Amino acid sequence: MQIIGLNLEEVEALVLELGEPRYRARQLLDWVYKKGIDDFGQMTNLPALFRHRLQARGLTGGALTLAGAAEAADGTKKYLFRLPDDLCVEAVYIPEEKRKTVCFSTQVGCAVGCAFCATGRQGFQRNLTAGEIVDQVRRIGLDQQTRISHAVAMGQGEPLANYAATVKALRLLNADYGLQMAARHLTISTSGVVPAIYRLADEGLQLNLALSLHATSDELRSQLIPLNRTYPLAQVLRACRDYAAKTKRRVTLEYIMLAGVNDGEADLVRLVELASGWLCHVNLIPYNPVPAAPYRPSPLQTRRRFLAFLSAHGVAASIRQERGAEVNAACGQLRSHLKL
Ligand code: SAH
Ligand code: SF4
Repeated sequence: MQIIGLNLEEVEALVLELGEPRYRARQLLDWVYKKGIDDFGQMTNLPALFRHRLQARGLTGGALTLAGAAEAADGTKKYLFRLPDDLCVEAVYIPEEKRKTVCFSTQVGCAVGCAFCATGRQGFQRNLTAGEIVDQVRRIGLDQQTRISHAVAMGQGEPLANYAATVKALRLLNADYGLQMAARHLTISTSGVVPAIYRLADEGLQLNLALSLHATSDELRSQLIPLNRTYPLAQVLRACRDYAAKTKRRVTLEYIMLAGVNDGEADLVRLVELASGWLCHVNLIPYNPVPAAPYRPSPLQTRRRFLAFLSAHGVAASIRQERGAEVNAACGQLRSHLKL
């Protein structure tokens, strides 16, 4: 077990059980989160016997070891982390002038199996624990020697299919004793697990929700995202509208633009219809080709036409600036091994 996946109450219970006063919990968490120290031997303000007991329990501070990394010219860096059971996951650091973002994974592989996604094509191995999720953000902050301001669950896996660990991890990222990140700077992207969207709206967290929309008809969306057969468009969109109404947070509708598949006039008209009249924002995403997947990105002029038409009809929209494709670190290109 690792300290990093535990919340304050759990660390306090552990500390009390080991015969120490409650305040030791925050000292322990300070070493792990604020100083980035995992080795109990170096936690000099803790009594030697307590440190020994923690070790004897088989506890460790962090959950991940670095297994590799690849950096693009613009500073985008992909990290490969080894988990305690020797499986690996990837996370990506995206530096911008005002924000430093980590795109983290929530599962090894993904069971949703979207046709256009490298993770989906790899199948599902297992859920990550809360500690394994939080540690991706912590380790990247330590490596970059910077404060990570934003984190997005857009790496490998479907976050809402690993609900408990993902939400616990987001609370730890947000906690004063954790990484102290504003909840408004944390984003969950989902392929549309409807019951979990309703649950998330009730958590009382100011999180951002992004829906992987990608199609405006059930026929096409079911082809692209098999989960649409379980939770069809009307249900998913209703859940997103309810999320926006309840949390007052603007929902992002992600729309990967696939040449000749979802980038026609009829698609555009339906997109305007379903994005009108509620608190949402359309993010047009250039497709990153994935080996063996039969899709190509829409031409730039098509993307621009979509953007102009949406804006002209009063729908907030943007085109996502892609980063990291040269090191296979862009959206949907993450797998469990590092390809340089
Ligand atoms: N499972 C979640 C979150 C991880 S994927 C989800 O699907 O939303 C994060 C985003 O990357 C999703 O919008 C997903 O559809 C998109 N994506 C997947 N493969 C992609 C690719 N090859 N090019 C561009 N975006 C991709
Ligand atoms: Fe899973 Fe998201 Fe990839 Fe679909 S796009 S296979 S839900 S990670």
